[in-house]
Amino acid sequence: MKSNDPNITQLQFSGLSFWLTLLLVVFFLSAVGLGWLVKSIVILFALIPLIGLVALFGVQWWIGRSLVRDRCPVCGFEMAGLQQQELIQCPNCGETLKIEDGRFQRSAPPGTIDVQAIDVSSKALGESQSTANYDDRAN
Ligand SMILES: [Zn+2]
Repeated sequence: MKSNDPNITQLQFSGLSFWLTLLLVVFFLSAVGLGWLVKSIVILFALIPLIGLVALFGVQWWIGRSLVRDRCPVCGFEMAGLQQQELIQCPNCGETLKIEDGRFQRSAPPGTIDVQAIDVSSKALGESQSTANYDDRAN
């Protein structure tokens, strides 16, 4: 097996020439008094993975702190939600839940009564009248 494959030699040469060019540019910039520019670019490139790492750990820490794991009080389905979420819907039974003290609580969605009040039909009126009559008889 011969290692001097023309393609590999070409690749190694182009890689070497890239670094040589980079070195030349760095030397040139340093020579004309732009060494600080090179330094800041190097620092920037060193900082990018560092910032990414810090962000990753920060997000993990934040999620770990604000993640709520509990069972749905209606159907017992275990799920996770975020402390910041005001309302969460159970994926199993569809019940709207709220998070209180790290626990899921049943929550009557606000505005439900208003929506029902808007949709008043004559049938609903008749029903409420008969209920009133029934209440009278009960008393
Ligand atoms: Zn549920």
